[in-house]
Amino acid sequence: MLPATPQPRKRRWSTLAAALSPPLAPCADLSKNVRRDYLLAFNARLIASEIALIDSALLGLPEFAKGSVWLVGAGPGDPGLLTALGLHALARADAVVYDALVDPRNLRLAQPEAALDYAGKRGGRPSPSQPDISARLIKLARDGNRVLRLKGGDPCVFGRGGEEALALAAAGVPFRIVPGVTAGIGGLAYAGIPVTHRETNSAVTFLTGHNSDGEMSEELDWVAIARGAPVLVVYMASRHLRQIAGRLLACGRGSDEPIAIISKATTPEQSVTVSTLGGVARFAPPVQAPAIVVIGEVVRLHAALNWTSGLP
Ligand code: SAH
Repeated sequence: MLPATPQPRKRRWSTLAAALSPPLAPCADLSKNVRRDYLLAFNARLIASEIALIDSALLGLPEFAKGSVWLVGAGPGDPGLLTALGLHALARADAVVYDALVDPRNLRLAQPEAALDYAGKRGGRPSPSQPDISARLIKLARDGNRVLRLKGGDPCVFGRGGEEALALAAAGVPFRIVPGVTAGIGGLAYAGIPVTHRETNSAVTFLTGHNSDGEMSEELDWVAIARGAPVLVVYMASRHLRQIAGRLLACGRGSDEPIAIISKATTPEQSVTVSTLGGVARFAPPVQAPAIVVIGEVVRLHAALNWTSGLP
């Protein structure tokens, strides 16, 4: 319960912090930055604890059992795109194993005593290998933790969620997959580009611009891809953008077909570059990672539907 009467700032905080269960550590240093971070953490915890109460009562969400792993999609960036199940899991997890693409603001909703374990690249060093990450998840679960594996976007869209789930299944560790908003749909929506539109396409293809070695995906049947769907959404395309555009042109796509490159989609630094397939095949604009690429007539809708440009 929040106190009704005004109290001196220090006391009010400590009362508020103590009202949380488990309580937030007291804030001794009240310098401006510490105060701001403390309040942010406090608000996040308050929201998480309220949600924890509301969700189980209203939504009937499942119990996050000790010794189990939840593979959760955090969405492409905007923390508001985390699902209710994702929030529910964050408020309860004992250990959170997260990737580079997870927005740090999501982690503020974890319990203060939860172990936060980064599984991405650090200081130029490569990410831990996939078997190492899976082994870590299995060990944490076997130690009796509620393990939250938090991934950017959707865990099973170019996110190796399937590989981790297979390892958990083989080890007999109970798991749940919690889908997230994938960049190839949510990122487009934040750029005002509907991924399907009745007048332009009734099919869409999602593909990756490079394979696990970082090379352009030669094993893909580019002719089939070029002919298959009017809209193509390409993940991990920045490095090979020019070659991909050239390949699609060679396989029959039109040089004046519009293409959009959406960088840091759904974050405050989102940027959208619109060009044509022919233009990108001649000169690929510099791209800030992560970026999602969309090719097809739906891109023209960006001009009319670019709703994020008017936001404060
Ligand atoms: N599982 C993720 C995809 C992981 S692969 C999902 O479902 O979204 C990583 C690729 O996703 C990046 O190279 C980029 O193409 C895309 N991506 C992820 N987050 C993004 C973002 N905020 N903006 C643009 N592209 C993003």
